[in-house]
Amino acid sequence: MDPTADIPPLSADGAPETNRRSACGAILAAILATAASGCRTAATASRCTEPVTLEKSTTPTPRRRPIALSTWDHGLPANRAALGVLHADGSALDAVETGCRVVELECPDMTVGLGSRPDRDGRVTLDAAIMTGDGRAGCVAFVQGVAHPVSLARLVMERTPHVLLVGAGAEQFARESGISVTAPTLTRAAEAEWRAWLAERRYQPTINIENHDTISMLALDAAGNMAAASTTSGLAFKMHGRVGDSPIIGAGIFVDAPIGGAICTGLGETVLRTLGAHLAVEAMRAGATPQEACERAIDRIIEKNGDPSGYQVGMLALDFEGRIGAYAVQRGFTFAIQEELRDAPSRFS
Ligand code: ASP
Repeated sequence: MDPTADIPPLSADGAPETNRRSACGAILAAILATAASGCRTAATASRCTEPVTLEKSTTPTPRRRPIALSTWDHGLPANRAALGVLHADGSALDAVETGCRVVELECPDMTVGLGSRPDRDGRVTLDAAIMTGDGRAGCVAFVQGVAHPVSLARLVMERTPHVLLVGAGAEQFARESGISVTAPTLTRAAEAEWRAWLAERRYQPTINIENHDTISMLALDAAGNMAAASTTSGLAFKMHGRVGDSPIIGAGIFVDAPIGGAICTGLGETVLRTLGAHLAVEAMRAGATPQEACERAIDRIIEKNGDPSGYQVGMLALDFEGRIGAYAVQRGFTFAIQEELRDAPSRFS
């Protein structure tokens, strides 16, 4: 059984019939309890350090559209906004941009948008990318003072001959496009955390923490078009100038019609070294289900980056049949499918 395969049934108005997060958690716990060697109950499964093996899905999910799939808990409000677009016959491209903009405006985790934690020099620098199944793509990286980097990335895609603009050049392009670029500033909460960090100046990313939580999205619209997007402030207290996987096509996001798309979150350096999203899409091209593709890509990321105990990567995939995959290095990666939040299975528990 593949816990990620069944997408919540939609009622006539497009809303999911039930919110089944707790039921899903129970199913996942039961699977983990069976799969993790040495674990006899769901309660003990969570303390196991053995790799978790899941049975592979053999039954394709019936075709269902539209679909919105996003990383982490903030994927829920993002999906709601995206589904609003999709159910009004909007495009997958508009849907992922709209969903990401919601989190850019309001992100209590302080990991997306201008309210994020800064880098080690006290500057909030933002990265974003957007891509469509026909191979169009736009990205911005190391951008300051832009409220909606995902929309700037879309403008790079639609109005320039380029794919990636960075730093001052991206900000100049924003101004030229009528997007306001504000002076660098920190919210009170972000400044307090930065000052606390300065006291020790120790940089140690922690699994699943809240110091890096990108919103990455995939959407499949009613017409059968797919798009992906991501937007993030990257790692908190990173070196000034550091850019992660999120704005890099093939690393943080990748879509290729008629195969499917994949998106990543987590420690960007590990994904950059392997072009994680591209790995998953190419696995699907070779015949893997989205779930198998995520598992293979995560395994490759672990193989390439060595000891996985200190980092997290979460990956989601969607194919054009509407099947989804979700997998992570460590337990704790949540994702939103339609208006339901789920826990992804993981290699290590
Ligand atoms: N992947 C992002 C980065 O490394 C962070 C995250 O997804 O949480 O910049």
